[in-house]
Amino acid sequence: MRLRLNGARGRDTAGRADTPVRDTPGGSVQSALVPPGLLHQRVSSALANWELDEAETLLGQVEGELPATPADERTGARASLARAWADTLRAELLVRRLRLAGWSLLGEPLVDGGPEQEPPLDLQGSTLGDDEPVDRESRSESAEQAAQAIALVRSARAAFDAQDDGLQRAAGLVRHARIELLSRRVDAAMDEAVEAASLLDPAMTPGPLLVHTLSALAGVLADLELMPLALDYQRRAAEVAAAAAATAEDGDVARSLVGQTATRLAALCAEVGEGVLDDGGAESAHSSFAEARLLAERALEELTADDPAVLDAQVVHGWALVGLGEHTAALPLLDAVVSAAERAGDRSLLASAELGLGRALRRSGEPRRADDHLAAALTVATEHGLARLRRAALRELCTLHADLDDAARALPYLQAYLADELDRVDERRTRWVELFGRRKSLLETERAAGQLRRQAYEDPLTHLPNRRYAEARLDGLLTSGAAPALAVVDIDRFKAINDAAGHPGGDAVLRAVGQLLVDGCRDTDEVCRWAGDEFVILLPETTAEQAERAMERIRRSIATHDWSALGVEVPVRISVGIAQATRGDDRRTLFAAADGVLYDAKRAGRDRVVRLSGVTQTRAADEADGTAVTAPGTASDEVPGSADLALIVGDVSTSPLADRPTDDQPEPAVNGFASLLLEPPVQPARPRSPLDELFGSAPAARRPRAEQPAAPEPAPAPAPAPAAAREVLAPSGPDVIWATGRSTEQVLALVREARRDHPDHPAVVVRASAETLVALASEHDAYTTMDGVAMAAAVGPVPESVGRIAVLCASSGDAPIAAEAAFVARVTGAEVVRVEDVGGSRIRPLLADPSLLSDVDCLIVVAGLDAALASVVSGLTEVPVVAVPTSAGQANTFGGFSALLTMLNSAAPGVVVSNIDNGWSAGVFAARIARRTARD
Ligand code: GH3
Ligand code: MG
Repeated sequence: MRLRLNGARGRDTAGRADTPVRDTPGGSVQSALVPPGLLHQRVSSALANWELDEAETLLGQVEGELPATPADERTGARASLARAWADTLRAELLVRRLRLAGWSLLGEPLVDGGPEQEPPLDLQGSTLGDDEPVDRESRSESAEQAAQAIALVRSARAAFDAQDDGLQRAAGLVRHARIELLSRRVDAAMDEAVEAASLLDPAMTPGPLLVHTLSALAGVLADLELMPLALDYQRRAAEVAAAAAATAEDGDVARSLVGQTATRLAALCAEVGEGVLDDGGAESAHSSFAEARLLAERALEELTADDPAVLDAQVVHGWALVGLGEHTAALPLLDAVVSAAERAGDRSLLASAELGLGRALRRSGEPRRADDHLAAALTVATEHGLARLRRAALRELCTLHADLDDAARALPYLQAYLADELDRVDERRTRWVELFGRRKSLLETERAAGQLRRQAYEDPLTHLPNRRYAEARLDGLLTSGAAPALAVVDIDRFKAINDAAGHPGGDAVLRAVGQLLVDGCRDTDEVCRWAGDEFVILLPETTAEQAERAMERIRRSIATHDWSALGVEVPVRISVGIAQATRGDDRRTLFAAADGVLYDAKRAGRDRVVRLSGVTQTRAADEADGTAVTAPGTASDEVPGSADLALIVGDVSTSPLADRPTDDQPEPAVNGFASLLLEPPVQPARPRSPLDELFGSAPAARRPRAEQPAAPEPAPAPAPAPAAAREVLAPSGPDVIWATGRSTEQVLALVREARRDHPDHPAVVVRASAETLVALASEHDAYTTMDGVAMAAAVGPVPESVGRIAVLCASSGDAPIAAEAAFVARVTGAEVVRVEDVGGSRIRPLLADPSLLSDVDCLIVVAGLDAALASVVSGLTEVPVVAVPTSAGQANTFGGFSALLTMLNSAAPGVVVSNIDNGWSAGVFAARIARRTARD
């Protein structure tokens, strides 16, 4: 489901490159690119539909007209916001291009053996992973694009952070969360979603952008599988849309918005219903589906017949009907939308309609037709990057084949479903919901405190730091031993200016003088408004002479400024007094000294800069004695002002810069939740799983199968070691359970026992049948990792990867053993690189890229016919080699014996040989070497 908002009403109006891109002919690029501008909508819609060239053309038409960097203050807030949006949209474009160039969206389309997961594209890191399956040239191109995307994301984020408009900031953050999700950076997406949520104040004025942002945030939360939160925000979007419609000028657009938000809310309700249904809660599922139906019907009432959003509402209506068991009503409806979506070429609509149709057919007892439609939904959702639809399709397909007692066909779907990384974070998700709330209120409190702090330290008229800030800052500089110069600036005859231009005119002059002071100073100098027509300037590490030269330049620039625009006919002039701190000076001494020379300047005729000479420095002492001459109107408030400071500022006075980051005090980086989200060491008892429903809680018992040969009795357990010795000897790797010759029930029992004895490392089952794997997954779904080629599964927490191994497979006949070695090594806790089909003359790729053989801690060579490969490889590298002879790949193998002998008789050092077809022990062995090597 995607949202068409803010006037982009027609599917066919979305993004035609040859139509004008500005809101109105001649309208500004800025307003067109910033949501809800029309260009913004067109680019977004092209991106969402993967029409990337179109998005590129649209963006290219206006990017040249924008300021070079979003942080360029002089170009104005609007232009910098437009730049931030342009960068954000381009970053998304690049990320999407990378996804198309070999970086799978969600996992590969399902082929035999299930999907290979691509490594995530790391938008924080500077380069891509090393083991992606793309050639070198496109790799470096991709790396370049990734680097560009990273730079754009960063600068756009900084520009959004600097925006005063909370809604635009939130809209930008939600978009960035979406980009993070596209790059599979789940933690970063969560961080940005939480920050956006904290900005979306309930008191914001209803309007299309607020509706859009709330809906988009709900979409991100739903993709993060945080359904209760997604529902909350989508409900708010629907309420805001209704409130905005009440006051909208264009009734049709507003009603369309109401219809679309209701549709999205209905879709979420139906998704929640399906989840509850899977968990066996038919009754509460019913109420979700009933709400979904009601909302969809309401949406259909709001939308005019020609509104393309009608089709979305119809699909969701269909989903709700299926959930309510009204298949007969749902089938023709969904069938019609499938045809309409095909005609319109609308792939995401097609995926949702196909899913609904497949579901309806499955539940009304037409499994064959259901299979076709669900497979179509899966393909389209995968191609289109629609994560939730893909998972729903996988789940349906898995259930379908399990119901048909076809475990072998259910397996790849199950494997893909389990491999989905988000689906495996049940634990994290629960904590995220809590964290979301806590983190959001923390951010809100921080923001409120920041505002208070700003109020405490900012002059509301000129927005310069105020006197309180100046005092605290000067204290800080003096205590740190710096020797700043201080300039006190007073406007000459300001009363007369006030009289001539009026009080508001006087205010404008004060603001302009403040700006001219800032413009004339260095970045490290700080201009503050002291009181009335007086300013102070702190000049760190500056001598009085240097300060005098700078202030003289500024005095002239103010005197020669054209003041007539502000209704001031005579030039505005200033007098300046300067003093430089010497060791041991405190703030009051320094202020009094500068103030004293300012008085001298006034007395000497005004319009001048005077600095304290060595002789007048003694004024400070005079003043302390109560004899100092002071400038009018300032020294008299000095002491009470300081008393206020102590009372008001209290403990914050020690860090006046807390809310004003400088170059040498950068804001702390937001690190996301990663550090808070450590996996629990022991898996907790899991509530009844959705897959229990799929296969029944005792699947093995439900399905009769041919008698399995009795398993050999397990060897008697060794006598228990003394406690201390047990600690030392406790195995750190997985428990490996050999499934050959064991019934599913026996394997399940052994896995349970292993999990009970060693809850902190996985139980690995190798050589399992499809049925055993399916049964394992149904009992332990959230903790099961699987490999359909190796026919192996691991149950329990897989350790973080430490060290790296490569598995070289000589030919396709050896693939199952190589897969087994790789799988076991991975679940033992090593990163695994696979190199396929390198036997015989196909060894060239290894020679061309020596890093394949050197950039790892251990190599596993799996070969039957090409058994000599192991010694050849060991001649090319210093990395230890584990050779695994296989019984596959030739006619007269003597059961793999000839490969074993070839390997054993090799003259090459650095090779150890495992037993025939023993991928799993090679995997454990290599992973142990890798882990220890990396640890050293
Ligand atoms: P001098 O050259 O001796 O400084 O003469 P002056 O007229 O500038 O005298 P003084 O600095 O004492 O006058 C400051 C005036 O600034 C007094 C007050 O009416 C005016 N003033 C103080 N705060 C504000 C303000 O926020 N806005 C405006 N428009 N006027 C202010
Ligand atoms: Mg004055």
